[in-house]
Amino acid sequence: MSTDLSPAAQRELGYKVRFLRLALWLVVLSAGLLGIYRLVVTPLMGMVNMLIAVSSLFFLFLLKRRPEQIERIANMALGAVFVGASLVYLFLYDNTIRLGVFFPFVAGAFYLRGARIGLRWLLATVAVILAGHLLPWFPDAYSAFEIAAACLYLSLLFAVLYNFEKVRSEHFEQEKQLENIAHFDGLTGVPNRMLLADRLAQALARTKREQGLMAVCYLDLDGFKPVNDKYGHQIGDQVLVEVTRRIKETIREDDTVARLGGDEFALLLVGLQVPEECVGSLQRLLETLNQPILLPGISIRISASIGVALYPQDEENAETLLRHADQAMYIAKQAGRNRYHLFDAAHDRRARSHHDLLRGIRRGLARGEFELYYQPKVDLAKRRMVGAEALLRWHHPQRGLLRPDEFLRVIENTELEIELGDWVIGSALAQLCRWRAEGEEFEEFEVSINISAYHLRSADFVHKMQSAMQGCCARACRGCLQIEVLESVALEDIAHVSPIINACREFGVGFVLDDFGTGYSPLTCLSDLAVDGLKIDQSFVRGMLYDRGARAIVQGIIALAQAFERGVVAEGAEQTEQLRVLQEMGCPVVQGNVIALPMPAAELAEWCRREWPPKAD
Ligand code: C2E
Ligand code: MG
Ligand code: MG
Repeated sequence: MSTDLSPAAQRELGYKVRFLRLALWLVVLSAGLLGIYRLVVTPLMGMVNMLIAVSSLFFLFLLKRRPEQIERIANMALGAVFVGASLVYLFLYDNTIRLGVFFPFVAGAFYLRGARIGLRWLLATVAVILAGHLLPWFPDAYSAFEIAAACLYLSLLFAVLYNFEKVRSEHFEQEKQLENIAHFDGLTGVPNRMLLADRLAQALARTKREQGLMAVCYLDLDGFKPVNDKYGHQIGDQVLVEVTRRIKETIREDDTVARLGGDEFALLLVGLQVPEECVGSLQRLLETLNQPILLPGISIRISASIGVALYPQDEENAETLLRHADQAMYIAKQAGRNRYHLFDAAHDRRARSHHDLLRGIRRGLARGEFELYYQPKVDLAKRRMVGAEALLRWHHPQRGLLRPDEFLRVIENTELEIELGDWVIGSALAQLCRWRAEGEEFEEFEVSINISAYHLRSADFVHKMQSAMQGCCARACRGCLQIEVLESVALEDIAHVSPIINACREFGVGFVLDDFGTGYSPLTCLSDLAVDGLKIDQSFVRGMLYDRGARAIVQGIIALAQAFERGVVAEGAEQTEQLRVLQEMGCPVVQGNVIALPMPAAELAEWCRREWPPKAD
């Protein structure tokens, strides 16, 4: 059904479709059954009946395919009935019901096509009836009295129907007026927000069905308020009417323009082939709106800012599409007005998932969804566990256990990173105290934690670290907590980081440079930093068995650590052969999956007792 019709008019069309369908089915059934019967008795009449049934089926088919064309189909059906009924009336004079067909015909024509066209069909019918009686070459089967009575009955029928129609159309007009008030903007006559919602839902459903493309635009006039203030509301109203006229003139017939209130409009551009098509229309619209509006004695120049959300690029519901178009309109305004801006759905999705993740982390921290896993570091020569690295894990309520790579980047350089880092410090220290109280395997045992650059450089890091150390089993923990800082972070900002390291060492916190070998640090820098050890990056450890370059780097880092009298740990060992080679090279302290995967704190003591050192050794 045409979207330009009011809901009341659309309902009216719906009734007519149903009426015509029912009438056609009645004809199919009656003519069909009669035809079958007559084919035996009078084959000619049987054929005529079958022809009527088949043509009714044809109209039913048309009606099913294109219900919105009800008026044209009704015209064709009425024409066919009229020709058929006239031929039967004029030539098959022994047919007993030949006059009777005209009665339902006139009533149907009246209902389907209204009083004016119904009257024309009535006059045509009367003309045929009179012709059949008056013209000499048609057999005269009815008396003049019967003919006059038939014409009179027809006219009476018409008069009754006409009165019905009058009452009905008055009621319909009232209904339409009420609907107009509810659905159309009083000033400009275009749909209002309420009807727009309806149209938008319909357009969206159709675009989905046809797998097409549509644009939802939010248009706001630039500088309309000053016009209103300067010239008064009457002139303001005229400007709005003119703007509406220009918009309607620019968009296509199937498109919709609605006034949302004030100087805001919404446009639905449907049936687009490519996004550029809508861009072209919007450019034309901006140009048209920017032309001066000439009113008696004044010329007003305004422009518009338009935001556009495209479906299906932006796969959202009607309400969200309009909201996105509104957001894009604000961007157009900020970008200097008199322009359009396309809503970037992909960017929005990214921003939203970023936002959701941030919120999730904050909530997770409050709900205790984070946990530190510990991966043991062992001394191969002494055959003993010497420490463990605390690695952050998130028990995500929906996504399960997450590793740091999956969420840490989102909070990089934010306050939340510091909050989470503080939690890591507190949690690792508390665990360390628990272990120390627990058993002998943890006596000379150090826990290392990873601290981000932003956290390390934050204003009161040293102070907070100190309180944390004092808060825990202070004496016992001295020298047992190590901070892992990325080599790149420590060395690129050595002037800032070095005092922090020195200050923390004062109260017994050690430092190692993590992922060492990836930061291209000059040797001089290393001598300036008071770190306790280097952690060889796992990429070199992994590659050293088959890559001579990697092996040389591992060898070099071990030599460097020895020269500077620092400790050294190799991380990421995955094969027993790597353990042997590392030990040969002089790096007995190793961490890696071949020894143990990171595990919850509660499992570490058990692992140490049962599996380390390996019984087979
Ligand atoms: P990292 O500090 O270099 O930690 C070592 C990473 O290597 C860990 O990954 C560990 O599970 C993994 N790993 C250890 N041995 C092996 C091995 O043999 N093979 C393989 N393929 N991987 C091994 P994880 O836990 O996913 O942590 C990744 C990174 O996230 C860490 O790298 C660290 O930079 C960061 N991170 C972890 N926990 C924290 C934390 O509490 N705070 C901060 N700021 N960063 C953290
Ligand atoms: Mg680390
Ligand atoms: Mg590392």
